[in-house]
Amino acid sequence: MKLEIISGPCSIESLPQFTSVVESLVALPQVSMIRCGVWKPRTMPGGFEGLGEEALLWIDEQKKAHPQLKFCCEVANARHVEATLNHSIDAVWIGARTTGSPFAVEEITEALRGCHLPVFVKNSPVPDIHVWIGALERCRKVGLTHIAAIHRGFDIYNNLGYRNNPLWEIPMELHRIMPDLPLICDPSHICGRREMIAQVSQTALDLHFDGLMIEVHPNPDLALTDARQQLSPAEFKALLERITIRTTDENNCETELQQQRRNIDEIDRQILELLAQRQKASQAIALIKKRANMTVFQPNRWNDLLNDHLRQAESLGLDPTYIKEIFEKIHTESVRRQEAAINNA
Ligand code: PEP
Ligand code: MN
Repeated sequence: MKLEIISGPCSIESLPQFTSVVESLVALPQVSMIRCGVWKPRTMPGGFEGLGEEALLWIDEQKKAHPQLKFCCEVANARHVEATLNHSIDAVWIGARTTGSPFAVEEITEALRGCHLPVFVKNSPVPDIHVWIGALERCRKVGLTHIAAIHRGFDIYNNLGYRNNPLWEIPMELHRIMPDLPLICDPSHICGRREMIAQVSQTALDLHFDGLMIEVHPNPDLALTDARQQLSPAEFKALLERITIRTTDENNCETELQQQRRNIDEIDRQILELLAQRQKASQAIALIKKRANMTVFQPNRWNDLLNDHLRQAESLGLDPTYIKEIFEKIHTESVRRQEAAINNA
């Protein structure tokens, strides 16, 4: 599999900064495209908002100097799309803040109708897969054929040290629903800190992502946007040498793997069987509660049961957070079914 590696500065800030970063990236054979922000969406007013058309002229110059290189930038409205079509832009992306706005996505995709430009769609910070799928569908609707999704993490209450929590289950679900859609990971915006980027890049590759988009700046500490997360060209080169691209090829371990997979299949069958038995017992309890005029939810019983399970989980070497989530799901379903049984029976 050829990994798509997109890298470049968060924003084009000056001609020397841009020329310098392109010179260092052109020397890396793994890099397939240069990212460069020209219009920057800023949360607060007054920050650096990109150089617009002036920067597009510098991209034209770099394209002339390195015709084999591809360049991509973010577009946030129809005017941006028109400008990129008049310059040497080989692909565009719809940014996280735009993806969640159906009118903006509609305007952009309409402006792209009939173009053969590849379009990447970043996920919205809102952790709802439908917002992402909606924007991707709007791209399909106008006949765009080169579409990819970029995973840049989500804004949730508990971000666990990430700038944007990866919530890997969401891009994995997107891959299940749209298996032919290439998935690119943006570890820079997930991490927000350069120290974490190599690890998150490796996780993305282990989860079968098709590419990486990583911010690189000639002097990251002086960057006008996203200074903490941009890598220097030397750090980026070291990252490319360090990451391991693994395969989905099963030829080397087929027999062993199949044996263990049969094992897992049997365990899963038993789990399902036990869940069904548990549900039956819970339904019998519903009728007892109804006769005794008891509330469906019994907080003390639930508290004791959960604490017992968490203690047992720990002694079995299972992560208590994971076990708590599973039992919360089981209990919620049990309460829902008891409630239905009591009120409909
Ligand atoms: C960016 O890529 O620089 C950017 C603004 O990212 P996002 O839209 O993911 O916040
Ligand atoms: Mn950025």
